[in-house]
Amino acid sequence: RLIALAPLTQAYWAVLYSVLAATAIYFLLYLITFYWRRTLDARAQLAAVNEVLEQRVEQRTAELKETQSELIQAGKLALLGEMSASINHELNQPLTAMRTYAETLLLMINKGRYDMAEQNGREILNLNVMMAKIVGQYKLFARKSAGKVGPVSVQAVIQASVTMLEAGIQKQKIAIDIAQSDLTLEVLAESVPLEQVLVNLLTNALHALHNTENPHIHLKTEADEHRVNIALHDNGPGLTAETARKIFEPFFTTKGKGLGLGLTISRRIVESFGGTLTIDTRYRPGATFVITLPRFIRGQ
Ligand code: ADP
Repeated sequence: RLIALAPLTQAYWAVLYSVLAATAIYFLLYLITFYWRRTLDARAQLAAVNEVLEQRVEQRTAELKETQSELIQAGKLALLGEMSASINHELNQPLTAMRTYAETLLLMINKGRYDMAEQNGREILNLNVMMAKIVGQYKLFARKSAGKVGPVSVQAVIQASVTMLEAGIQKQKIAIDIAQSDLTLEVLAESVPLEQVLVNLLTNALHALHNTENPHIHLKTEADEHRVNIALHDNGPGLTAETARKIFEPFFTTKGKGLGLGLTISRRIVESFGGTLTIDTRYRPGATFVITLPRFIRGQ
């Protein structure tokens, strides 16, 4: 029997080292797993939060869209209400007058006063024309673009609208000068509504120039690659800050017999062609309106 004796301390150290190493490795592994799981958890949480956020954004967007369309509807309804009130007001007066004229006309026929009867008939006709004009304005207001947008000659539209108001311009002895940088300029629009816009602006200028000495209207066109500006300036009294702010609102008018729809409709028409109608306050005295429209260039 051989008995070898060795000091136990060596064995203890070996065991201690192994235990320590095992513990360290275990601890390290634990830490790695722990952090890995935490990262995974954090990612999962982040994904969940993101999803919730996305859902909320979607929900809010949907709500916003709904509110927006409700607002548009409410706006339309409010406008409809205002328009009904205005139509009522505008048409009631001539209707009542027409009734009176018609009654008088019948009475005059009965009495054999044909001259008076004829006079009343004429008044009825005049009122009829006026009412048609009022209804026509509203029709334009309700109009949606027919979609027949195409190249329109700026020169032709200006000429047509000035010719339409020639009589008034001459009667008021208004000097009108038209400065066009390029007579071949074309815009993308519809010619009839665009003429209507220019006629509206010119009519307003004519009204504004009623009490002006040496009245003049200055029409100027300018263009860059993409846009054409048509500026219309008159040397009338111009616009107060208050008027300038409200001028494009429906039913805003400072005229006794105005409808206050001309500029609202004009802006709507120009915008339906992708353009703008604005006031330029730089040129005083007087008022300047600027129509900006997309330019059409042949061969592009
Ligand atoms: P209306 O001509 O029926 O009043 P508009 O919408 O065309 O309706 O014009 C609204 C108002 O804007 C006018 O009543 C007038 O006060 C003002 N306005 C428009 N054009 C001019 C102008 N060229 N000079 C001064 N004021 C103007």
